[in-house]
Amino acid sequence: MFEAIAERLSETFRSLAGRARITEANVSDAVKDVRRALLEADVNYKIVKDFTERVKQEAIGQEVIKSVTPAQLFVKIIYDELVKLLGEKQEPLRFSAIPPTIYMIVGLNGAGKTTFTAKLALYLKSQGRAPFLIAADIYRPAAAEQLAVLADKIGIPYYREDGADDAIALVQRGLAAAKSQAREVVIIDTAGRQTPDSDLMAELKKMAEVLNPTEVLLVLDAMTGQDAVTTAQAFRETVPVSGFILSKMDGDARGGAALSLRAATGLPIKFIGTGEKPEDLSAFYPERIASRILGMGDIVSFVEKAQAQYDADKARKLQEKLSKNKFDLEDMLDQLRTLKKMGNIRELLAMIPGFSQMKDMDIDEKTFKHIEAIILSMTPEERRNPAIINGSRRRRIAMGSGTSVQQVNQLLREFEQMKKLLRSLNKFQSQGRDPRHAHPLFRRKG
Ligand code: GDP
Ligand code: MG
Repeated sequence: MFEAIAERLSETFRSLAGRARITEANVSDAVKDVRRALLEADVNYKIVKDFTERVKQEAIGQEVIKSVTPAQLFVKIIYDELVKLLGEKQEPLRFSAIPPTIYMIVGLNGAGKTTFTAKLALYLKSQGRAPFLIAADIYRPAAAEQLAVLADKIGIPYYREDGADDAIALVQRGLAAAKSQAREVVIIDTAGRQTPDSDLMAELKKMAEVLNPTEVLLVLDAMTGQDAVTTAQAFRETVPVSGFILSKMDGDARGGAALSLRAATGLPIKFIGTGEKPEDLSAFYPERIASRILGMGDIVSFVEKAQAQYDADKARKLQEKLSKNKFDLEDMLDQLRTLKKMGNIRELLAMIPGFSQMKDMDIDEKTFKHIEAIILSMTPEERRNPAIINGSRRRRIAMGSGTSVQQVNQLLREFEQMKKLLRSLNKFQSQGRDPRHAHPLFRRKG
């Protein structure tokens, strides 16, 4: 799994390892390598383009943390973006509140439907559930036989008929059998075709309408790469596909299907098949897959720790400055950059009790650029000690930053406001931590 892309990416990281800093130039070289690696893995070019764009943005916006090398940071960025690309978190199977839960297994011929039906049954059984199988491929007698052999092997009850000519009627009889045996999860192995043709789709569509299944799981052959995306789109047009199963991951070195499906369809990959045997099934965990692709789990967790430490240090320094009333414009810029990284300031402030009045202070992209330009046009002395910024300094700063004196005035007012806000926030936090400060009574005693 993923050997080819893993190999490619590790070359990229090696070439970055010697660099002392991440600059726009060496990032763009590394990003080019990443792009090539993804394209070679057979990931859709549009998805690759978006991916590399985000990596570039992230890499350039990163703060320099002394203990972390640019190469390590780059690994972390790629890892984070891979996790996002793969869907962030594992999406569990849904179960119906009223039994039985019904899963329709759909896909092309040879994709691995029948094999997966047995794998899923074994998986559910191991979780203490009571699965039941229905062989609904009425076109190939061998298909029902294949399912029966597998089901017997793993000890799961099933329903099959010979010579039925209506798949939907067959499934309804199967469902009745499942209910009479009080089985709680019914898995239907449907018929496939070489291509998603209209006959197949019409049958599946009608079956889904009649059964209203809890999930329609589309089995896709991982070795078909980007074609899996085309197949997925064709199926989705007629049946309510709720998730994907990628079979034959064990034979796929490239990973194009796994890396493209989520971004192309918005639907989750729920399981991967990793072999022919009923036990060769794994739930799909984006983080584990990303680690597997990068093969650098230790670096990722190292950078995570360093970043958390760095943030904690910064927060502590800010607290110190606030308590000594030394918060200056340099810090304001820093705070705004942090807030911007964290998302919309409005939403953020709304979460802090007592700060609803600050909701008007909306920092959008443009305002932020102005603020940044104004502060950068000040001398270090002015940033440290805003009190000295008189009328003529204000005019000079406005000129230098391409803004107006009004905008400079407004910024200085906002600085005072922010300083006040942060001081009370600081008090609020320390009150939370130390019960002696929580109430005047306690304070007097302490
Ligand atoms: P169906 O036509 O969609 O029902 O496909 P089958 O379940 O009959 O599978 C087609 C072939 O692929 C069989 O030879 C299976 O053993 C094989 N197969 C299915 N899933 C996997 C898998 O995850 N890994 C490997 N290596 N082979 C698989
Ligand atoms: Mg089959």
